Amino acid sequence: MAQAVNGEQARSGVRADQIYPTLTAAQIARIAAHGRRRRVAPGEVLVQAGERTARLFVVASGRIDVVRPSAAGEEVLVSFGPGMFTGEVTMLSGRRGLAQLQVGAVGEVIEVGRDDLLALIQTDGDLSEILMRAFILRRAELIARGVGDVVLLGSAHCQGTLRIREFLTRNGHPYTVLDLDRDAGVEELLERFHVSAADVPVVICRGDVVLRNPTNQQIADCLGFNDAIDQTTIRDLVIVGAGPSGLAAAVYGASEGLDVLVVESTAPGGQAGASSKIENYLGFPTGISGQDLADRAYTQAEKFGAQVIIAKGATRLACDRKPYAIEIGDGQRLPARAVIIATGAEYRRLPIENLPQFEGAGVYYAATFMEAQLCADEEVIIVGAGNSAGQAAVFLAQGAKRVHMLIRSEGLADTMSRYLISRIEDHPRIVRHVHAEIVSLEGNGHLERVGWRDKQSGRIETHGIRHVFAMTGAAPSTRWLGGCLALDAKGFIKTGPDLSPDDLAVARWPLARPPHLLEA
Ligand SMILES: Cc1cc2nc3c(=O)[nH]c(=O)nc-3n(C[C@H](O)[C@H](O)[C@H](O)COP(=O)(O)OP(=O)(O)OC[C@H]3O[C@@H](n4cnc5c(N)ncnc54)[C@H](O)[C@@H]3O)c2cc1C
Repeated sequence: MAQAVNGEQARSGVRADQIYPTLTAAQIARIAAHGRRRRVAPGEVLVQAGERTARLFVVASGRIDVVRPSAAGEEVLVSFGPGMFTGEVTMLSGRRGLAQLQVGAVGEVIEVGRDDLLALIQTDGDLSEILMRAFILRRAELIARGVGDVVLLGSAHCQGTLRIREFLTRNGHPYTVLDLDRDAGVEELLERFHVSAADVPVVICRGDVVLRNPTNQQIADCLGFNDAIDQTTIRDLVIVGAGPSGLAAAVYGASEGLDVLVVESTAPGGQAGASSKIENYLGFPTGISGQDLADRAYTQAEKFGAQVIIAKGATRLACDRKPYAIEIGDGQRLPARAVIIATGAEYRRLPIENLPQFEGAGVYYAATFMEAQLCADEEVIIVGAGNSAGQAAVFLAQGAKRVHMLIRSEGLADTMSRYLISRIEDHPRIVRHVHAEIVSLEGNGHLERVGWRDKQSGRIETHGIRHVFAMTGAAPSTRWLGGCLALDAKGFIKTGPDLSPDDLAVARWPLARPPHLLEA
């Protein structure tokens, strides 16, 4: 039985068995066929923290401890006895491990390399279920306990801090955040790493690399998110965008045996990742948060062997000759026999001149647990009348003092699902303002006041509200495609029967048959 030495495991017996299962002799024998047995001695380090080579160990006899260095020496996070196995989701992605594996008691282990592990997961349904479930639950536990290799020094009032928190959270990477204005001990850390309050947000990556207000790509590079991915070979399929569509394409492509690479400019999940709870997605009768949906889809795609490059945006599609290539900046090209473009949509921004100074400092485009924490017990405004606005209103009303919905038209009936309208109408803390449009944002560093106009009377009112959620729809993310593919007047890609003979001539359509639906 695994033991968490710090006693933080407040789980039911069933869940503990799922996180730390003990394999049967027959299951161990099947794993052994993919690995090699070897004797180990106490104190032997099997995997260093931060090591790139992902390997699974099954304990045949003896004990393996999972340890991480702490101020008080080494902290044992969990111990694995006979029949148990190491590993979490980095086994699938090939990313760096977060803790050190060390032999606690003499014995024998079975060591399985990552490629052999992937083959095992794809061929043995019984073991696949046990291993995948344990890996996913263990990552969730690491996140819940903040066991990671990133410390973020920031402030709730700072744009960059929210961006970095979102980036790490949506990429399922555990981190600790220390708030300059609230947490003790921050001064000491600033001094130790020779940074000042003016440098925040500061990311301390893997214990010693100090990044001042880093871009998402710099964080991804430091954490080695993409290190295990070969970016030179010709792939059967390159998918641009890891929202629900791109991840679905990755799951189906990879499960059919294609060599699939996904390129994602931010984090898996896309717009859906910004949703607190999706209730109309097939197969989830009680609803699912966008983040959970994205995590599951991402892990599922990786299970079938798809790889996902994070924090790299496609900048151009080179389609003049085969293989096609997706350019991702710095002269890097990803060659592909086929390309799926699943870049979805970008949020529409409020037409207010000084908007950029408040984005992430009072103006948000997502309503998840993270943003909800920032506006607990305060008044908030939601701009929009679609389903995303409705979901955000119902979700934020759980913790906010009052939720004001600014609706441009005369109501919600034409734009929102009936089930959401009923919840909004019945909610005592949600106020609807119809024919209303936002006209001004004011504040010093953080949003402090918001003005809106009644479009019928022309009357403008200003309120001391510090949080605005812009949920005003989205436009297609296709600007980077110019030249290669025909776009319609709204920026959507023309495909199949929408392509005119002129479009086909310009694109030098090479086949005798016309393009299929969604083909271009
Ligand atoms: C708050 C909110 C709540 C919602 N709730 C619901 C709901 O309850 N039910 C429902 O059915 N729908 C809901 N939606 C809509 C749903 O999320 C979208 O329809 C869905 O996410 C679209 O999926 P997609 O993969 O096509 O595109 P997106 O989700 O837009 O994903 C596109 C991905 O491509 C990436 N990308 C863009 N450009 C590039 C580039 N050049 N290079 C690399 N990557 C790029 C983006 O970063 C993104 O991850 C909601 C949307 C929001 C914002």
